[in-house]
Amino acid sequence: MNVKVGVEAHKRSDQDADKQAYRERQRQGACHDRADQGRVLCGPAGSGKSTFAAQHFIPTNIVSSDYCRAMICDDVNNQQVNRDTFDLFYYIIQKRMFLGCFTVADSTALQSEARRKLRELSRRSGYLGCLLIFNIPPEICLKRDKMRQRIVGEQVVAYHAGLLQRTLQDAPHEGWEQVQVLGEEDMDAIIEILAQ
Ligand code: GDP
Ligand code: MG
Repeated sequence: MNVKVGVEAHKRSDQDADKQAYRERQRQGACHDRADQGRVLCGPAGSGKSTFAAQHFIPTNIVSSDYCRAMICDDVNNQQVNRDTFDLFYYIIQKRMFLGCFTVADSTALQSEARRKLRELSRRSGYLGCLLIFNIPPEICLKRDKMRQRIVGEQVVAYHAGLLQRTLQDAPHEGWEQVQVLGEEDMDAIIEILAQ
C-alpha cells in the first residue's frame, strides 16, 4: 500500500482541509471571492483607524496589531514585544489571504518597510493592494488620544505626524493598486467609491 507520510504529506492534507473549510465558509457567505480582497489601513495613533474598521467591516475581517500585541502579552502598550506582535500580525494576515478571506490590516503602517511587507503579502496572494491613509491632523489625533483608554501621548502623535507626511509623498510610488487618502470629512464618500 502506498501511504504518504511525513511533514509534507501532513502539510498538504492540512492545506486541503483548510481550502475545503474555506469553500464551505464561502458558501455560507463568510468569505468573499472579490478581486479586491483587502484593505491596508495606515495612519497615526488616534486617527480613527480601528473605529473606522469596526464601523465598516465585520470583526473577523480585521487583523489588528494592537490585538495581536494583547494576545502575546496581555498589555496593548508593551513596546518590548514588537517583533512577536508583528510576527503574529503578518502570520494571521498571510493565513487569511491564503484562504482568500477579505482582510483588513489595522496597524499604523507608517513605516515604508511595514507597508512594503503588507503590499508583498497581498500581491503574493493575488489581492489588489488597497491602502487607506488616514490624513488626520495631529491636533485632532491628540485630542482623540486623550479621550480614549489607551493613551499613546503627545510625543508619539508628533512622531507619527512626521511619518504621515512622508507616507503621503511616498505611497503613490509604492506599487499600490489603490491609494485613498481619508480626511475627516470624506470617509463615507470614499468608502462608496471603494465598494463600487
Ligand atoms: P486609531 O489609533 O487610529 O485606531 O484610532 P481609534 O479608532 O482608536 O480612535 C481614537 C479615538 O478617537 C477613539 O476614542 C474614537 O472613539 C475616536 N474617534 C475615532 N474616529 C472618530 C471620528 O470620526 N470622530 C470623532 N469625533 N471621534 C473619533
Ligand atoms: Mg487602533
